Amino acid sequence: MTDAAGSDLRILLDSRGIESTVERVAADVSADHNDGVVLVGVLRGSVPFLADLARAMSIRVRIDFLSITPYSPGTGRVRLLKDLDIDVTGRDVVMVEDIVDTGLTSEFLSAQLNRRNPRRLSVCTFVDRPVRRAAPVRPDYVGIGIPEEFVIGYGLDYEGRYRNLPMLAAANPAVLKENPDAHIAALYRF
Ligand code: 5GP
Repeated sequence: MTDAAGSDLRILLDSRGIESTVERVAADVSADHNDGVVLVGVLRGSVPFLADLARAMSIRVRIDFLSITPYSPGTGRVRLLKDLDIDVTGRDVVMVEDIVDTGLTSEFLSAQLNRRNPRRLSVCTFVDRPVRRAAPVRPDYVGIGIPEEFVIGYGLDYEGRYRNLPMLAAANPAVLKENPDAHIAALYRF
């Protein structure tokens, strides 16, 4: 589609596509965790996915969050801002992410979580983009794999915008750099 700014936004998953994707992932996670699970969301991008996932699951679910901040942007090195509130010792934990890109966030947080001695730790991501992978991370549950597009919507932001876009869309980062609000009109169209 072309929005009011005249810039391209390509829909990868509309809200129906998101729904069926979440249902599939929730069924897979549920099937693998008969004893229930602690879903650990990585703030803030995973929030819409985690909320939908939790409601679509057919097992006992507890929810907690981790929050991180980059040490210095672009290095992939992160620092823990908010730790877990729940004791996950001996529990099955599924870390929920918006996107696994380089995998550095996932690698860092998996190491942090493993220190809490869960019985089992899995990684679940809504979007998997392996092309820029820098850490040996292989998510256990994936909503959608994409080749190389920059994506926004369904939790994924550009400078804090678009997290509430009810779809996953590929956007042109050069357009967003020029005008971070370029796709705001898309919020009101669907
Ligand atoms: P990592 O490179 O450590 O796997 O991912 C770090 C974070 O970068 C992700 O959790 C996400 O917040 C952000 N990120 C990576 N790729 C994209 C993208 O295509 N779109 C958006 N909006 N954020 C991204």
